[in-house]
Order: sequence, then structure tokens, then C-alpha cells
Amino acid sequence: MIIAIDGFSSTGKSTVAKRLATALDFIYVDTGAMYRMVALTAVREGLVHAGVLDEDALMGHLPELTLGFRRGEHGENLAVLNGELVEAEIRTMEINRIVSRVSSIPAVRRQLVAQQQRMGLGQNLVMDGRDIGTIVFPKAELKIFMTADADIRAERRLAELRSKGDYTVSLAEVKSNLLQRDAEDQARVDSPLLKAVDARDLDNSHISPDEVFQTAWDWAKEKM
Ligand code: C5P
Repeated sequence: MIIAIDGFSSTGKSTVAKRLATALDFIYVDTGAMYRMVALTAVREGLVHAGVLDEDALMGHLPELTLGFRRGEHGENLAVLNGELVEAEIRTMEINRIVSRVSSIPAVRRQLVAQQQRMGLGQNLVMDGRDIGTIVFPKAELKIFMTADADIRAERRLAELRSKGDYTVSLAEVKSNLLQRDAEDQARVDSPLLKAVDARDLDNSHISPDEVFQTAWDWAKEKM
């Protein structure tokens, strides 16, 4: 069984996806982390100059990339790039600023979507992202599309950055980055962020994480 959770940035997709996967004993795959690892490669290789990405040079690095995950001590999902743990490095504002440019490149999407589809072969999984219900698993048994008010999303994302020790960024900057990423993710030509026609809406603005989980859990149980 495949559960696809899509939606805008910082709507709480990964929180509910992880909890659902743990409760159902399914594998959890955070596809945003995969695009973030490619973006980290672009930054590390010096391919971003004044906010402009050298796409051709990045394509040259794609065949060298092995994107994976490892379980942390407390069961958390940790991003691993070519054998190196990069979970903290992929969650910075520097990566937030460039990741939607990276994810709009068709060659990047082709490679990552193929890997994501392989991960689903013969597995029960919960996968979150932007195009899971539309492109990666159009036949997923359950599709959820998450939304939330932009101010609430920005506050949650700021709290997350603060908890990781980043005090350099303001609420206004976080909000503007979220809105810009939403716009870029919706506008790209190749597999834009789009609600699948058969996805169920889940608005996470004014309900607690427990209520979000309960709703997703009820929907999953209905399908099982
Ligand atoms: O989910 P997260 O915010 O970590 O995703 C980071 C970025 O990766 C998104 O803004 C989007 O540009 C890209 N992404 C994507 N397709 C996915 C998952 C993420 O384009 N399935």
C-alpha cells in the first residue's frame, strides 16, 4: 500500500507522514530531503553564484550522487549523501533558497522520481513531497493534500530553524521564502506542485498534530 502526502512547504506533511508510517509499520520516504541533497551538492561544488545556479555543471554531478536514508538512535529519518550524514546541512536557509531551482530541472526530477518509484516496489510506504500522488505514484491507495495558512507555516518553520540554532533569519524572510518556493513549485513545467484529483484535502492551520494524525489514520484504515 502506498500513501502519498503532497502539499505546500511547511504544512506539516513530514510530521504526519512519519507518525503514520511508524503507527502502520510502513517505510517513510521524505522526497524533499532528496531534492535538498542535490541542492547541497550544488552549493558544495560552488555552482551557485549570486543566487544563480549553473544547471549544466550540476547535471554533470548527477550520476555521482547516491541519495539514501539512515535510521537515527531515536528512530528518526536521517538523510545520507554518498555515505555522509547530511541531515543538518540540508535544512538551512541557504538550501531553502536554492532547492526549488534545483527541483525544477527535468533531469534531476527524472533521476529522483525513478529512485522513488523503485523504493515503492513491493513495499508499504508513506511518501511525502509535491508530486507523489500525481507523478511518482498516481495509483497510490491514499492521497492526502495538505495546506495551512502562510503565517502559521512561517511561524512553525521559524521555530524549527531556531531549535536548530539558527537565529540569523527573520519571520518575514522565512515567510517570503515559503511563498516563493510555493510559487516556483507550482509554476515549474515538469511535474508542478498540484493536487491530484483523487486526493483528500487536509487543512493543518487550526488543528492539533494529534487531530491531523487521527484524520490521516482514519483515512488509511478506511483504505486498508
Ligand atoms: O518538502 P521540502 O520542503 O523539504 O522540499 C524541498 C523542496 O524540494 C520543495 O520546495 C520542492 O522544490 C522540492 N520538492 C519537489 N518534489 C518533491 C519534494 C520536494 O520538487 N516531491
